[in-house]
Amino acid sequence: MDQATGVTSGYRGVAYVDGAFVPAEEAKISVFDYGFSRSDVTYDVVHVWDGRFFRLEQHLDRFAASMASLRMTPQLDRDGLRQVLMECVGRSGLRDAFVAMICTRGRPPQGSRDLRLCRNNLIAYAVPFVWVVAPDRQVSGISAIISSIPRIGAESVDPTVKNYHWLDLDRSLFEAYDRGADTAILLAPDGSVAEGPGFNVFIVRDGRVITPDAGALEGITRRTILDICAERGIPAEVRRVSRDELLDADEIFTCTTAGGVMPVVRIEDRILGNGAPGPLSMTLRELYWVRHADAAETTPVPYPPGLD
Ligand code: PLP
Repeated sequence: MDQATGVTSGYRGVAYVDGAFVPAEEAKISVFDYGFSRSDVTYDVVHVWDGRFFRLEQHLDRFAASMASLRMTPQLDRDGLRQVLMECVGRSGLRDAFVAMICTRGRPPQGSRDLRLCRNNLIAYAVPFVWVVAPDRQVSGISAIISSIPRIGAESVDPTVKNYHWLDLDRSLFEAYDRGADTAILLAPDGSVAEGPGFNVFIVRDGRVITPDAGALEGITRRTILDICAERGIPAEVRRVSRDELLDADEIFTCTTAGGVMPVVRIEDRILGNGAPGPLSMTLRELYWVRHADAAETTPVPYPPGLD
């Protein structure tokens, strides 16, 4: 631990690389892998909360669809991958974990650039749970700007295929830091609300919960929120959301696997709800976490003896 910054230098956790389990700190890939040099890679992130995976099968479905879309064939089938993820978490002993599965294009034989000759490379790891927004900031609420940088067009990079084309998102974050905000919301090239760096966006208007229907990853957290709304009779809409609607919303919240529901209390210069998270945002946040004890939504991690 660096005493000045409080940052831990080593990465705790367990990874699966080249068919073997290794400490997270030793997880490395070749600089010749197109996953590194071309962002030719897809991934998914599922979380473990209190020793249970949340909506694991939905993450496996999305990851399989992403790999198929990029014409990747991993070395493991679905059952094999599930087993690897279980083992990464089990061996790590982590009760609350951020669990990534990644498939890179791999590298072509030396001298070739033929993508069809690459052996796709499956990587997985479990590290301590990551909070995009820390729990105390979720309760006080965060500030967001509308980035001047549009999200890369869906015709170029399909946002429903979870990807590492993060330069627009990273640029938007620096823009947010420069403007004194916590994060940024990006618009699609057509000017409608898309998503943010690692999260989906919801607005609340007249008691209706609304999220964009295009230009964004189909987040598992977003889907969970929509399921909660359907069960509770909270009106919800999946449709285009304009910039003006975002600026004018009664409430705004963002959501992601790495943190759950994150209420926004300032958008650009406008303070929402007198600076406190909106009531519907907070209700949905609470209901989201309650589901983590539900056997129908979760899968227990088989921890080895001594780590259970
Ligand atoms: N949008 C982007 C760009 C993301 O990277 C993520 C998650 O990392 C999300 C949305 C939220 O998706 P999920 O709820 O499945 O974590």
